Amino acid sequence: MISSLPEFFAGYAGLSHDSGPGHPESPARLSAVIDAGREIVGRKKAVFLEAPPESDLTLARVVHDGSYVDLLEGLSPASPSRPLDSDTQVGGATVVALRETLGAVRSLLATPPGKGRKCFLAMRPPGHHAHSGGGMGFCAINPLAILLAARQETYPEERVAIFDFDVHHGNGTAEIVARLPRRDKILFVSTHRYPFYPGTGSGRDNREGAQGEGVLDIPLRAGTDDDDYREIFEEVVRPRFAFFAPHTVLVSAGFDAHRDDPLGDMALTEESYHSIGRWLSETAPGLCAAFLEGGYNLQALRDSSRAFLSGWFEG
Ligand SMILES: [Zn+2]
Repeated sequence: MISSLPEFFAGYAGLSHDSGPGHPESPARLSAVIDAGREIVGRKKAVFLEAPPESDLTLARVVHDGSYVDLLEGLSPASPSRPLDSDTQVGGATVVALRETLGAVRSLLATPPGKGRKCFLAMRPPGHHAHSGGGMGFCAINPLAILLAARQETYPEERVAIFDFDVHHGNGTAEIVARLPRRDKILFVSTHRYPFYPGTGSGRDNREGAQGEGVLDIPLRAGTDDDDYREIFEEVVRPRFAFFAPHTVLVSAGFDAHRDDPLGDMALTEESYHSIGRWLSETAPGLCAAFLEGGYNLQALRDSSRAFLSGWFEG
């Protein structure tokens, strides 16, 4: 039975994912966000999402190459972490965490288009840089893209909008979206610093179809603050979403554009994240699911996720 209250998925298995010594994508990040979730559940504004983990990573095959999923499934729970690239590691504990996250994704698959449901997934590793061929940039698989592709198979007429507000461009999600058969049912919108890692998102790929579908990459300069962001949001993001009128909204919720973040070199505060949450509460009448991405200052991440959840679940 699905609660009518917003849901918070606490991906505890993600606390055991080993990203390497001194790595900014640490287990303490997830603990900080779970703390914020506990507070809102404690105020009875949300409930915890309970979902059994997947028995394997089969669901990931809907977007990721079979050989890559085979590699992940070949890791036993005790396998030590090994590098995928210079800043991304996967090991046995990672796979346990991914199966747990995919259990939550499976639960979200069961909600039909148009039925109201809000869910925040506090998970690690993050996902939006993971592309069809594999992981990169701290990400192993892309749960948002997996949910999107699986929902397209189940509900081919559903209109889905993606909003990615992480400071980095969601190159993995963008690449997977470009390969899906029903791109005419998808709007992908991203605000991110540019030029910056991973080097994509200049706006060159932007396009708008007759119903508002397509791609809207919004490159931002370093130092972008709340006032700058509000202006872009009101003038560019909000009208495009209103025109497209999605059934379902999927969010890559990264908090690394915060002014105290050590990686982002931007100047947003909790105010922007609260505003995004408020907007989501008004904009997405059907399924709305947000996936934790970046955010590398623990206090800023705790405060920003709390502000976002408060705006979205209590706004
Ligand atoms: Zn990021």
